[in-house]
Amino acid sequence: MTEEIEKLKKEKDTVILAHYYVDGKVQEIADYVGDSFYLSKLATTVKQKNILFCGVTFMGESAKLLNPEKRVVMADIYADCPMAHMVDVKAIEEVREKHPDAAVVCYVNSSAKIKAHSDVCVTSSNAVDIVRALPQKEIFFIPDNNLGRYAASQIPEKQFIFHDGFCHVHKSITGENVQRAKELHPNALVLAHPECSMDVLQLADFVGSTAQIIDYADKSGKDVFIICTEIGIFYELQQQNPDKKFYSVGHRQFCPNMKKISLDKVLYQLQNMDNSVELDESIMELARRPLEKMLLLGK
Ligand code: SF4
Repeated sequence: MTEEIEKLKKEKDTVILAHYYVDGKVQEIADYVGDSFYLSKLATTVKQKNILFCGVTFMGESAKLLNPEKRVVMADIYADCPMAHMVDVKAIEEVREKHPDAAVVCYVNSSAKIKAHSDVCVTSSNAVDIVRALPQKEIFFIPDNNLGRYAASQIPEKQFIFHDGFCHVHKSITGENVQRAKELHPNALVLAHPECSMDVLQLADFVGSTAQIIDYADKSGKDVFIICTEIGIFYELQQQNPDKKFYSVGHRQFCPNMKKISLDKVLYQLQNMDNSVELDESIMELARRPLEKMLLLGK
């Protein structure tokens, strides 16, 4: 299957992008693997005519928004992030009416329609820097409550209005889970994703996006880590650090949507290309702006 995928991606002038949370076997055949920020930046530089995205819907939408002339195909069109649908346009309009000076800051884990109503996008790796760089003092942070609260804790000079969205994978990790893991592995450092709740982040030695967690573990002089994010990250952590040990905090660090993506679906899409991301022109125009603003401020 791997040989067939290699052959077809050349024949079809296709680049395969995969998120760290997809299955290790899929990461292995991808041309590029990364977090949402890296993949959205990269999508603007690839030469191939087609992008085959191994991730959830909002990631494919972002790739399409930034590359309207390319065909973006999802490995599985039903792999969708529930958090991306937790905020609606009405909630944004209500806050804009009450707080006309507030900036609407939208985590990339949201639909194109929501991005179209936002001022700027952020990812978990750049949320703090981008919000700090904005001229507005008031911030409506959507949809992830935990990431919003983490950003607020780092930028006390700004006033935040939070939404109540969440990632069920990160929310299921509790401070109690982490305490228990620390008792089992007393020499381990705790590395946590900012989508985790504050009780988990308070126990962490380092808080960062998936790419930042991998980078931290690579450079650290320590060799035992407790990882508080989706289990797919273990593939890259172990690839890069075969002599270090990585422990999860429980059995629920598993995103069922990311795990819908399999090698046979990748192969099927290379053969048929029938899961193209299609977006309304008017939404594309508006939704591209906050993404481009993020890339600009991210520089
Ligand atoms: S891990 Fe959480 S935020 Fe990421 S796709 Fe799955 S549900 Fe969405």
